[in-house]
Amino acid sequence: MNITIIGAGYVGLTSAALFAKLGHKVRILEKDAQKVARLKIGKALFYEPGLDLLISSLIRSGALVPIDDYADAIVKAEVIFICVGTPPRKNGQADLSQIFSAAQGIACYIKNGAVVAIKSTVPVGTAERVKKIIQRKSLVHFEMASCPEFLREGSALADTQKPDRVVIGVNSEHARKVLIKLHEKLPGERVVTDLRTAEIIKYASNAFLATKISFINEIANLCEAVKANVDDVALGMGLDPRIGKAFLKAGIGYGGSCFPKDTRALNSMAKTHYYDFKLLKAVIEVNQLQRKIFMEKVRTALGSLRGKKIGVLGLAFKNNTDDVRESAALEIIKELLKKGARVTAYDPQAASNAKKVIPKLIVAKKPGEVANNADVILILTEWPEFRTLRWDVFKKKMHRPLILDGRNLLDQKTMLALGFEYISMGR
Ligand code: NAD
Repeated sequence: MNITIIGAGYVGLTSAALFAKLGHKVRILEKDAQKVARLKIGKALFYEPGLDLLISSLIRSGALVPIDDYADAIVKAEVIFICVGTPPRKNGQADLSQIFSAAQGIACYIKNGAVVAIKSTVPVGTAERVKKIIQRKSLVHFEMASCPEFLREGSALADTQKPDRVVIGVNSEHARKVLIKLHEKLPGERVVTDLRTAEIIKYASNAFLATKISFINEIANLCEAVKANVDDVALGMGLDPRIGKAFLKAGIGYGGSCFPKDTRALNSMAKTHYYDFKLLKAVIEVNQLQRKIFMEKVRTALGSLRGKKIGVLGLAFKNNTDDVRESAALEIIKELLKKGARVTAYDPQAASNAKKVIPKLIVAKKPGEVANNADVILILTEWPEFRTLRWDVFKKKMHRPLILDGRNLLDQKTMLALGFEYISMGR
């Protein structure tokens, strides 16, 4: 099939690689000409394990073609996937300007019988609005679909190749048949439903995962009050298959380009429809509070932060990615700098993206540098390699052997045995 993917971000580029690998002719349309030029010479746009190699071999073989011109990209496409960003507006609503501008571009060149599927996370009713935009400029017959994406940054490729489920929202038999056929080689359940239901499935999924995180964080806070251990509580809960172990890790809360914006967008969608989503509002509030609770631990341990030397391990919003969008780590660092602390930070992948957000941040080339004369080391991202650092050597370099582990990453007994003052979340 001839497929066009619009937007070469995490979702677009990964989906393009997937469909090209499945044997389709894929064009990836990106408005940023610099990104297209980088793709053409096989350069990565962001860090995602395994993706660069696959993309460059697919481009070399001609299975995947990067393009910045709508005419070339759309005119032959049988299926068009819209994968552009839907960032948050100040009021919490999803900003749909990238979606609508893609729709305008599609309208000029769409061919008869094409299916336009939205993969971006969008509020209910967006597919219908996109349809109207295209119809204003085009007389051809086309169908709309909603195919929300569930990949996780850090394991995007594996997630798209082995999805748990493929959600297909359609209002026509033609679109259903085309999309079922397109996904036929992929495992996972098919959830075929209408456009509006498919759109809300994505928000409901992310909001539920965020709820699990905020729930375990509240349990962690209570564990501190009653002197219990949240890790064991999470294990004891998670072994119940009705609950499940995933997303029960206490810490400084969720961040990233999806959970914060999607929970706010869902809440805002509820408000628009006069529904008071009490549980979701609490999930959002607890997540914000969790960072404040961590900052309070830092202040209690160090007293005044002015002039204190703080080493930070982890800048990305989670491990295995270079994405720092709404990263809890960056929010905490901004607060530390505001209070006069001197911060040196290390991240295996996200340092240069973090520097773009906080230009005065001192970034270390090696993790050991953050320990030099430090009054404390904060662990803010759960990179597994931080577990196996030479902590005995770190301790010798530090001014005070104090660790605040915002991700409950390290083993408490080991760190205490090494002679650290070790503070974590709910343990
Ligand atoms: P992104 O910001 O990384 O990428 C979007 C890309 O689209 C950018 O390269 C941008 O230049 C390009 N673009 C914007 N408007 C365009 C236009 N009119 N024509 C051509 N290109 C255009 O976004 P992302 O992280 O890939 O997310 C995309 C969507 O998928 C969002 O709605 C997001 O919520 C959703 N989503 C993201 C993830 C994730 O983990 N990142 C997972 C599932 C769903």
